[in-house]
Amino acid sequence: MAQASQNFAQQSFAPRRSEPLFGRLAIIGIGLIGSSIAHAAKDLNLAARVVLYDRDAGVRIRARELDLGHEIAEAAADAVREADHVVLCVPVGACGAVAAEIAASLKPGAILSDVGSVKGAVVDAVSPHLPEGVHFVPAHPVAGTENSGPDAGFPSLFLNRWCILTPPEGTDEAAIARTRQLWEGMGAIVEVMTASHHDLVLAVTSHLPHLIAYNIVGTAEDLATVTQSEVIKFSAGGFRDFTRIAASDPTMWRDVFLHNKDAVLEMLGRFSEDLAVLTRAIRFGDGETLHKHFTRTRAIRRGIVALGQEKPETEKLRKD
Ligand code: NAP
Repeated sequence: MAQASQNFAQQSFAPRRSEPLFGRLAIIGIGLIGSSIAHAAKDLNLAARVVLYDRDAGVRIRARELDLGHEIAEAAADAVREADHVVLCVPVGACGAVAAEIAASLKPGAILSDVGSVKGAVVDAVSPHLPEGVHFVPAHPVAGTENSGPDAGFPSLFLNRWCILTPPEGTDEAAIARTRQLWEGMGAIVEVMTASHHDLVLAVTSHLPHLIAYNIVGTAEDLATVTQSEVIKFSAGGFRDFTRIAASDPTMWRDVFLHNKDAVLEMLGRFSEDLAVLTRAIRFGDGETLHKHFTRTRAIRRGIVALGQEKPETEKLRKD
């Protein structure tokens, strides 16, 4: 751990702050995202005190062994008491219940945020529990790996990755600015948009690809009795990449599809129509249509690389 922190400091992208941004930062949910925020916030002095809580006692024990943050609380309410900034790092479907659990302990003026991969449903679930004087600034770091749990986190997870903020209309500007500073302090590039726009964009860029990966790996497994070990043996390239994505956390992704239903169904409809065009081209030997399509998609990939959102050394680790 000490070694990891040292390496991180050496390749520091954002200077360690001389003065912390927040007095007390509370993180609820110690999985991949929560533990990564804890590493970065402590290493870069983004908060004087980083306090974490997870409902799983085993996870809390592991978080102490890993020396995550400065303190592991035994109750969510204890973690958030006196916190200036609280980040919910639990599955999307749990955000409302956690907000209800901590509401009475949030101090006036505190910022409540989250990292959920779906924004509209989280805003709907959390807003009714928001106490007077607490500012809600939802966030989604578009960064991740297929690993989960407290051991999965690392401080540079958010480096050069987008973090999308979706503050509801009328949100306190200073609270938005402080949340932006937190994410920029961890190396992220921040963009602000509405929750509904976020959910539509992410449905096509992240949610649909995961659904396709889960589906294709399931299809291959159904064939396994026919092909036996060939599915594994010849899995270089495309299929192997799908298996990595399809190894993503089942609870997290169940919640994403249940809570971004409309946008995902809309994109799935378009996807099916486009797939029908390619199917037809293959059936009728229409090479021109196939070539034109593949040329267009190759340009998209090159555009992503040019934007710096994919680098060879990070390709194996990162996804969203
Ligand atoms: P994770 O590794 O599975 O960790 C989530 C942790 O939260 C688990 O330890 C879980 O405990 C705990 N938890 C669940 N309900 C809780 C509750 N009511 N109170 C306290 N703790 C609770 O998940 P993650 O990958 O970090 O994802 C967390 C959030 O980040 C999700 O909303 C996800 O959409 C978002 N996100 C994930 C990624 C990614 O690639 N992983 C990327 C961007 C955003 P149990 O195991 O007992 O349920």
